[in-house]
Amino acid sequence: MNPFDVIDETCVTQFDDCADVIVVGLGIAGACAAIEAKRAGGDVIAVERASAGGGASALSSGLFYLGGGTAVQQACGYSDDAQNMYQFMIASMGSDNAQAVRQYCDQNVEHFNWLEQQGVPFERSCYKDKAVFLMGTEGLLSTGNEKVWPYRELARPVPRGHQVTGEGESTGNAAMQPLLQVCSELGVRGYYDTRVQALITDQSGTVVGVKTQQGGDTRFLKANKGVVLATGGFAMNPDMVQLHLQGLSATAEALGSAYSDGSGIQLGVAAGADTDAMQNYIATASIYPPGQLIKGIIVNESGQRFVAEDSYHGRTAEFIAKQSNQRAFLIVDSEIFAYPEIETARHQLIDGYETIEEMEQALAMPKDALVATLNQYNTAARDGVDPDFMKHPEWLKPLDQGPYAAFYISFSQSIYLYMTLGGLKTNANAQVLNSKGIAIPGLYAAGACSAHIPKSGASYASGMSLGPGSFFGRVAGRHIMSSNEDTP
Ligand SMILES: Cc1cc2nc3c(=O)[nH]c(=O)nc-3n(C[C@H](O)[C@H](O)[C@H](O)COP(=O)(O)OP(=O)(O)OC[C@H]3O[C@@H](n4cnc5c(N)ncnc54)[C@H](O)[C@@H]3O)c2cc1C
Repeated sequence: MNPFDVIDETCVTQFDDCADVIVVGLGIAGACAAIEAKRAGGDVIAVERASAGGGASALSSGLFYLGGGTAVQQACGYSDDAQNMYQFMIASMGSDNAQAVRQYCDQNVEHFNWLEQQGVPFERSCYKDKAVFLMGTEGLLSTGNEKVWPYRELARPVPRGHQVTGEGESTGNAAMQPLLQVCSELGVRGYYDTRVQALITDQSGTVVGVKTQQGGDTRFLKANKGVVLATGGFAMNPDMVQLHLQGLSATAEALGSAYSDGSGIQLGVAAGADTDAMQNYIATASIYPPGQLIKGIIVNESGQRFVAEDSYHGRTAEFIAKQSNQRAFLIVDSEIFAYPEIETARHQLIDGYETIEEMEQALAMPKDALVATLNQYNTAARDGVDPDFMKHPEWLKPLDQGPYAAFYISFSQSIYLYMTLGGLKTNANAQVLNSKGIAIPGLYAAGACSAHIPKSGASYASGMSLGPGSFFGRVAGRHIMSSNEDTP
């Protein structure tokens, strides 16, 4: 049940404050929306539930999925262009949002430049090995399925994970601090420790304001041009997770800030918004780094392979989630043996075995199943091919140097972290759509409270939250100031 209601403007006796634009939530999407609306001449209020802006964006690893020939790509010797990026995104993420994807790709270099102009730093250097995020300061790494078959044949593979230069794991903060600073310098007015509790609509259904709660104080804020919802995802709302993410393992752990509780989605739905991809999530417990583990094979409890092991970790997780009991094992030989380095994943070494027959028995697999899988894989790998899953030749080697080892990488034994991908349905102007596909006047959404472009873990690439979140936040801020007309 939706705990939020919509308030009819006629029930509001007096507004306590007024602005052209009200931005709800000051993470990456909200900050970018506020900056652009302010620069377009608007008076902007940002309402933020926490004591300061930042949200999950500040906790993040600071990876932005950007391309089309950014200065970092160029400095690192990669040739990318908008069309190449578009072809990859459409092939791997689907064509549902083709117009938004087109716009994202066409304007990506400009967007990268804009982020840098606001003070978001990206080093001109590249990390060439496989990693989930970087503890170093390199500005570029591969974070998606670009080199995974069939995508490598449909678009020229190039790295597009742009990592903000910062210290430690939460480099997202190095992006948020300058953006929040710009908001403050431009005069965006902030209401902090303040939660938006309802949208206010006029008789035509146009969103004209918000009701807020700060401690015991209730306020009504008028928005002359409209409201941008930028409140983040819903991984921290157990009721929504239970309702929507029915395929998610009970042992998976949510990623987000304490306030990633879906309130923006519920606020929008109360005002007539449609949602998209609410059942989808991206889970992660990467087997890499180190990259050499990709040369192993991943099998299910029947001893069969089911995914190309060089897939992006979110894609691998999605395939594991579809296996019987969501169980899987990583099998390596002594030549490539190493422990998986992502500590949060807690992939456990099961044991070492002199022979594959011994391993197969210990893992309670059907007799000869794993032996047959390994024989078939090794025969092809000696020829540098993987006809079953088309793993890239750079990750192929016969696994024939015993002893052998197996790791648990099941949902029940490892720790999978997840983020939600579903949210409010929006168009390429970041306008929120109703169930007829028509924009709700005065209502915009960006970031993780709107449905992501990649609608599954299999199609996700790291940086596809901060990249589009910042981009469509800007789109919302500009569009809201330029027009209030309905566009489908
Ligand atoms: C550990 C971690 C690592 C990650 N790494 C990456 C990465 O490298 N790259 C990437 O693309 N994605 C990453 N993500 C995901 C990404 O951080 C989020 O999807 C993204 O930051 C969402 O941005 P946002 O602006 O939509 O929401 P947020 O940044 O969460 O901002 C939403 C804001 O709204 C406020 N708010 C919520 N409800 C209300 C309300 N009712 N009223 C007022 N304010 C409200 C919140 O307090 C918050 O400040 C990571 C996430 C985590 C947790």
